[in-house]
Amino acid sequence: MRNCRQAIDPHWRIDRIELIDNNNFREWGVLKSSIENREARPALVWFRDDLRIADNPALLTAAQSGRPVVCVFVRDTVSENVRQPGAAQDWMLHHALVELQLRLQTMGAGLVVRRGPSFDAIIDIVRETGAELVHWNRRYSGPEVAIDKAVKARLISSGVETRSFQANLLHEPTKVLTGAGGPYKVYSPFWRALEKLDPPRAPLPAPDTLINCNQNLDSLTISDLGLLPTKPDWAAGLRKTWPAGEKGAMALLQDFLRDGIKGYAGGRDFPAKPNVSRLSPYLRFGMISPFQVWHEAGKAGVPENDLEKFRKEIGWREFAWHLLFHYPDLHWRNFDSRFDSFPWRTQVPELPSWTKGMTGYPIVDAGMRELWQTGYMHNRVRMIVASFLIKHMMVDWRIGEAWFWDTLVDGDPANNSASWQWVAGCGADAAPYFRIFNPVIQGEKFDPDGKYVRRFVPELSALPDRYLHKPWEAPVEVMRAAGIKPGETYPNPLVDHAKARDRALQAFESLKRAV
Ligand code: FAD
Repeated sequence: MRNCRQAIDPHWRIDRIELIDNNNFREWGVLKSSIENREARPALVWFRDDLRIADNPALLTAAQSGRPVVCVFVRDTVSENVRQPGAAQDWMLHHALVELQLRLQTMGAGLVVRRGPSFDAIIDIVRETGAELVHWNRRYSGPEVAIDKAVKARLISSGVETRSFQANLLHEPTKVLTGAGGPYKVYSPFWRALEKLDPPRAPLPAPDTLINCNQNLDSLTISDLGLLPTKPDWAAGLRKTWPAGEKGAMALLQDFLRDGIKGYAGGRDFPAKPNVSRLSPYLRFGMISPFQVWHEAGKAGVPENDLEKFRKEIGWREFAWHLLFHYPDLHWRNFDSRFDSFPWRTQVPELPSWTKGMTGYPIVDAGMRELWQTGYMHNRVRMIVASFLIKHMMVDWRIGEAWFWDTLVDGDPANNSASWQWVAGCGADAAPYFRIFNPVIQGEKFDPDGKYVRRFVPELSALPDRYLHKPWEAPVEVMRAAGIKPGETYPNPLVDHAKARDRALQAFESLKRAV
């Protein structure tokens, strides 16, 4: 481990200077004193949604500055309008931070943990350390962009240099604009525009070593942040599901590239198939970067249609962030303002039937239970359960969005809001409002042998396949043989699909009148 004292080792300094300017002694003197200063004054790296050491340009550049590096994480629960992560995200964040801290320690540095307002915390640490350089990777949601701008302005006015980098999106939202100079609102032209840009850069290496300078700084422990559940500890299922940190992310990616990406284009819609990567929580907290995912997938030697489909899904993530950047209210404001007058039901006493996976529609219930037990839900099933809440139960999409936000380990400010709006029909490039998923047909099509439903709704496991997605049609003796008592061991359907569909279509008619 190198520390501040070793950082100003004269031999090391002279080597550097000779490298810069071998012959010019006058210049040597100037450089010598400025480097002495610079070396004594550390470079700060502010970690946020980029909890990794590889392909982290902020960290790499700080390390390459040759200065002692101070790594910081600020838990900001107070800055105005910053959306607080849900409970499952907090659980993921805790483990991501623990892993990051360990990795930084093995490289010679540590992680200073503070509570914020971020603005105050960063300015304080700069003052305490005398840092002259502050590095971060850019973020793209409105309130956080505002914080970063304020921090930058303050630091620059104090003579501190700031350096920000593109690390969490393949393309900057400011650089992908329509011919008229505005943001894209439809995915296909957005994707075509991405394809015309330079390909995403190659991932950057992790720094070999860091010069430590944070021994005497006050720091909370990660546990002090209180990110883990206490009573009840609902996280037992999560621990089994998610390997920790950057290493866990890389292991999942490699598993997926070996066993899952081949057949992705067709298989990604089937929740029991191993054709999805499950990388979303790692992308959410930056334990892996989209650049790493993009390029590793490109090296996997898989059929072109699978690779393209997978990269297009990464493209949907880019699109969601593009939308959030340009429309920062995406998580509460209808993208299509006609929906502002939509007659959502305001009293929904049966909401817990949906959250607990007790609607009587097996594919919906399996999805909601998968979410509760693992903090994740397969994309196809997310669409089905969201459609059910919005269109069968007539519940405002924001209520579903908030439930997902709290229970998903991958709860993502952009993807979650954009996807809920997409299903509701009020989002950018949304599914038409009159497309109402039939949960029975969806179940039969995408879980034909019932493997997924049987896993998460075990009380139905003995039901023959032909009734599994519509148990109410099973003859009494079949139900009895399967050990199911309708309304007791498994609920009767919460709503009748045909009636619910008509009710939703009527309500959506009101939108036409609102034009
Ligand atoms: P893979 O199929 O392996 O895809 C790889 C990556 O591409 C994902 O990790 C994700 O970053 C991105 N991606 C894939 N599908 C989509 C998509 N439809 N939209 C945007 N990006 C996508 N995704 C989140 O990351 N966080 C959320 O909070 C979230 N909420 C959603 C809510 C609803 C109602 C719906 C319908 C979708 C939501 N999604 C969300 C999108 C999608 O369901 C998940 O990204 C995907 O299921 C994650 O699984 P995976 O990593 O195995 O995906």
